Formats: sequence, C-alpha cells, structure tokens
Amino acid sequence: MGEHLDAQGAAAWIRHAAELVSADAERLTRLDAAIGDGDHGHNLDRGFTAAVAALPDEAELPGTRPGKVLIAAGRAIVSKTGGASGPLYGTALRRAGKALGDASEADAAAVGDALKAALDGVQELGQANEGDKTMIDALAPAAAAYRDALAGGAGLAACARAAADAAEAGADATVPMQARKGRASYLGPRSTGHLDPGAASTALVLRALADVTGRE
Ligand code: ADP
Ligand code: MG
Repeated sequence: MGEHLDAQGAAAWIRHAAELVSADAERLTRLDAAIGDGDHGHNLDRGFTAAVAALPDEAELPGTRPGKVLIAAGRAIVSKTGGASGPLYGTALRRAGKALGDASEADAAAVGDALKAALDGVQELGQANEGDKTMIDALAPAAAAYRDALAGGAGLAACARAAADAAEAGADATVPMQARKGRASYLGPRSTGHLDPGAASTALVLRALADVTGRE
C-alpha cells in the first residue's frame, strides 16, 4: 500500500480489524469471562461490524479522506458497542481521525500523531495509566514503539509493525497485573494471572494496521 494511508487504506484497516476481531471474538469473550462479564468479544464484534457498515461505498472512497473514514467508524462503534470498551474504542478512532484532519493521505508521521491522539483520548476518557491492566497497556507501548521506529527512519509499514509487536507484548504483560480500572478491578488481587481482554483486542486492531500497510 506504500508509505501513505489514504481513505481506501483507512477503510481496509477497519475491515481487516473487523475480520480479526470477529475471528477472535470467542477468545476475547473468554478472557473477559475470567475477569469481567464475558461480553468483550461480542461487544467489539458488533461494534466493528457496525463500523464496516458505516464505511463509504467503494466508489466514494477515492473522493474522501482517511480522517473522515476513521471518524465515521468511531461514531458507529460508539453507537453500537456496549460496555466500557465502546466509548473507549470510539474515542480512539474519532481522535485518530481528527488528528489526520482533512489530508487526502497520511504519511508515517501523521499516522504516528493519530496513534498518540487516540492514546490521549482513551486516557482522558478512562483515566487509566500504564500498569492498570487495560487497553492502555497495549496502546501506550504501541504509540511509543511507533514513535521510536519513526525516529529511526522507518516508514509507515515498519512503524505499524513495531506498534503491533509492542501492543502484543504489552497485552501479554498484563497477565500478572492487578486491574485498577474497569470491571476487572472489582476482583482486586483475583484479577491477576489473566490477560486483559481490552489489551488483547487493541493488539488485534494494531496488527490489522500493520497487515494492511504491509500489503504490496
Ligand atoms: P465492560 O467491562 O463494560 O464489560 P468490555 O468487556 O467490552 O466492557 O471491555 C473491557 C475492557 O475495557 C477491559 O479489558 C479494559 O481493557 C478496557 N477498560 C475498561 N475500563 C477502562 C478504562 N478506564 N480505561 C481504559 N480501558 C478500560
Ligand atoms: Mg465485559
């Protein structure tokens, strides 16, 4: 797809994220059953399905903007996703879209800024920090790894791959953590020993970005 994210690229990202979430919905729901209420996979599957439905038609994509695509996806997710994760994912995508502004193509730096804007939005809304066993534990290291890769001269696809790798490692690192935000925090010390479902799904969404930007 080259070194820019255009509206088609943004739509491809949302579609592929929806595929990965749908394929892993059972696993996400199982993770949430262990430390939450067992709805995360189902919630997010419904949300991303709505996001895909809200994408502009293929014929309209060349005339639109990647920022607009992400904002539309974020709105659909907010309106269709239950639970804490709906507003958080919706905010992430809307903030990312806003950060891309009206440009017809986002370069690697702009996508990095969008990732950081998404992180800031989720933190503002959810008030979680790294170590609280939430999606922030995937998103924050992803944004940092993206920024470091960019500073090292990497292009969009390599930056996105670094972000996805860091998100997966960050999600895995939630296992020993005790949850301090969200439903899992009600379990106190019993929340340790489990992977956080929101961190796991965040890693999928970032893997989707790496996959689509890495396509030839
Ligand atoms: P609910 O907890 O309402 O059932 P979901 O099951 O869809 O919602 O999502 C749970 C996930 O949401 C958690 O695994 C966690 O990653 C994320 N989450 C919950 N609260 C917060 C928060 N305050 N900040 C960031 N992420 C959060
Ligand atoms: Mg839940």
